Amino acid sequence: MPSQDRVALREAITSLPAYVPGARGGVGRFSYKLSSNENPFPPLPGVLAAVADAAADLNRYPDMYAGELVEAIAALHGVKPGRVVVGNGSVAVLEFVLDAVCETGDEVVYPWRSFEAYPIVVSVAGASGVPVPLLPDGRHDLDAMLAAVTDRTRAVLLCSPNNPTGPALAGDDIRSFLAAVPSHVLVLLDEAYTEFVRDPRAIDGVPLVDDAPNVVVLRTFSKAYGLAGLRVGYAVARTRLADGFRAASTPFGVNALAQVAALESLRERPALLARVDELVAERDRVTSALAAHGWDLPDAQGNFVWFGLGERTSAFAKACVEEGVIVRPFGAEGARVTIGEREANDVVIDVARRFLS
Ligand code: PMP
Repeated sequence: MPSQDRVALREAITSLPAYVPGARGGVGRFSYKLSSNENPFPPLPGVLAAVADAAADLNRYPDMYAGELVEAIAALHGVKPGRVVVGNGSVAVLEFVLDAVCETGDEVVYPWRSFEAYPIVVSVAGASGVPVPLLPDGRHDLDAMLAAVTDRTRAVLLCSPNNPTGPALAGDDIRSFLAAVPSHVLVLLDEAYTEFVRDPRAIDGVPLVDDAPNVVVLRTFSKAYGLAGLRVGYAVARTRLADGFRAASTPFGVNALAQVAALESLRERPALLARVDELVAERDRVTSALAAHGWDLPDAQGNFVWFGLGERTSAFAKACVEEGVIVRPFGAEGARVTIGEREANDVVIDVARRFLS
């Protein structure tokens, strides 16, 4: 008799929304993947060489807390290494940050639509998600988010620039928000795409940690640094919080190859930021072409563009695939298209022109 499978999963787990990853390639050799906000540039030769070197020691565990990488990140931001906590992608960091602060039933306020991992990591942490709709122009509704804070709120997530809609938060708006939020509420500022931001009102969030002890800034090596496949992200926070996050993190959470690749990327940061400049120029070319065709898009400050197509979203995504470009549809809300290779971007411009009503 086969025994019955009777282990109960937590209710929060069985009711989790699915994380739908961007579709992968495979439509043929002319397919371009603009569905996951990846960097289209291949790793720098120095990064590949560092990874190959480190591969010789794969029988050994990595440095548990990635000391050398943490030192380099701390030097980049001008903070003490004790304020930096690394993890297996910034999504893992987000997970253990919430695990470290949330008790069952606590509330976590976040903008919606935003990064689709938010509702998942909030539920896994045992908390209740409080999604607050964006404004029609794809910006956070900070007044409504503030109004959503209750006695049970443990954390607020802010995403700047917002994935998938694109606008960045203005520094003044973040500061006013922080001044109004109770200081025991953790405010996590997710800056996954910050290197792509050119809005002059936006700020580097890391120095806010000095002024507001409840702020945590989240960064990643997946986007501007082009290391999505290796999974490295980090948080910067006050030392007491950072110690707690580190304690809640997976031991040896950043693998040996990822540690050396991220370290080498910091050494080669000027070359990587030059690539970011190219992608920003390409983003500007795309958004200008779309505006010239009559598209009124939200302000694109990341490496992606948002088309609020409503019911026509899946038709748009299908039309792009037929032309060899994979984009990321979100139900009947809209499609997010990563800025990629010039020829792929041209296809998107062309398809979008046909979709103007
Ligand atoms: N935050 C935002 C806003 C994102 O869009 C992403 C990736 N799509 C992440 C965090 C997670 O990035 P990673 O886990 O690759 O560091």
